[in-house]
Amino acid sequence: MSAVASHPPVHAPMDQFERRDGQLMLAGVPLDELAEQAGGTPFYAYDLGLVGERMRRLRAALPDGLKIHYAMKANPHVGVVGALVRLADGIDVASAGELAVALAAGADPTNISFAGPGKRDPELLAAVEAGVLLNVESTGELERLARATDRAARPARVALRVNPDFELKKSGMKMGGGPKPFGIDSEQVPAALRRVAELGLGFEGFHLFSGSQNLRTEAIAEAQLKCFELAIALAADAPSPVRSLNLGGGFGIPYFPGEQRLDLAPIAANLADIAATAARRLAGAELVVELGRYLVGEAGIYVTRVIDRKASRGHVFLVCDGGMHHHLAASGNFGQIVRKNYPLAIGNRMDEPPSERCSVVGPLCTPLDLLGDHVDLPRAVPGDLVVVYQSGAYGASASPQAFLSHPPAREIVVGKA
Ligand SMILES: *Cc1c(COP(=O)(O)O)cnc(C)c1O
Repeated sequence: MSAVASHPPVHAPMDQFERRDGQLMLAGVPLDELAEQAGGTPFYAYDLGLVGERMRRLRAALPDGLKIHYAMKANPHVGVVGALVRLADGIDVASAGELAVALAAGADPTNISFAGPGKRDPELLAAVEAGVLLNVESTGELERLARATDRAARPARVALRVNPDFELKKSGMKMGGGPKPFGIDSEQVPAALRRVAELGLGFEGFHLFSGSQNLRTEAIAEAQLKCFELAIALAADAPSPVRSLNLGGGFGIPYFPGEQRLDLAPIAANLADIAATAARRLAGAELVVELGRYLVGEAGIYVTRVIDRKASRGHVFLVCDGGMHHHLAASGNFGQIVRKNYPLAIGNRMDEPPSERCSVVGPLCTPLDLLGDHVDLPRAVPGDLVVVYQSGAYGASASPQAFLSHPPAREIVVGKA
């Protein structure tokens, strides 16, 4: 049995959408119309207007010349990627499948980078043929890249992903420091750089990514500075000048009670210092940050309809047509250590105050299929629409959609970036 969460009164911010006549609205469209547009429930809706606004704020805050890439595994929906191809300076892909979507959406291959462990030979070849930058994750991959692409029409463009010897403090998911499947341990990088030259690969720079979902500005700034200093030290062994330095991202969004949106100012100030130093010490290098959920997470909702309302031994359950098979993260099974509720609302009763404590569950035959554990909501009945906020990233594509053979989630984009 899951523990009963005590329910702190303050939610993560839920102010990004308008409401009218009790209905939640996205891009001026009320929720019931969105459900029609989607062809029914359950569905995800992504508001491109919010994605555009997020991008504009970010650009206004961050230093000029800094490149902002979109890490598309956060949300690979073609409409979202299409918008970010236009808004961002590049797309970071993690498979040949994502590469194909990025190219189809019109991304310039010059500005695509491809990271991720376990790239297979056909993926390496596809990436080199397309002319994208490969972030190499291991010394073995370097050798395979050289072999797999030795007949390619053009040389591989290579950046070494570095596994630093420190990690991003208090990050939700740690992806650097200690033994890791990601990146080449920093102490092995000098030898790997010699190998890049011997193999005749085109060296372009370094990629460092030390964590994700961080809401602590000091920790992000510190990690970026340490990554930058590490890159400067490693550049001494590089076969050619560093042209691209990807400092990762890790910018988090608020999901849970008490969490607040990131204050960009200290991160921006730190990046401005880094850019100033880079102009002297890594002249000609392009600085890149790569962001996933920060660009899209708050712009999306997941909507599921109440099918049944039942009371079991005094506790109310709203049983819905969607659940963890569409939204693993909101069920608490995608990286959370202690399960917490995503922000939830009854999207057609936005004017009504909470009047009961209930649990929101999906149609799967498992107690893991829980979208809201003891949440305070207005009294909902079958037909009502439960809205899960903060669902624009790691939703549909990060969920076990085939589990129990229910239909996949519908996805729509609304608004204009
Ligand atoms: C997943 C990933 C990202 C995006 O992380 P977010 O938390 O969505 O910002 C960026 N870079 C790399 C290398 C990743 O694997």
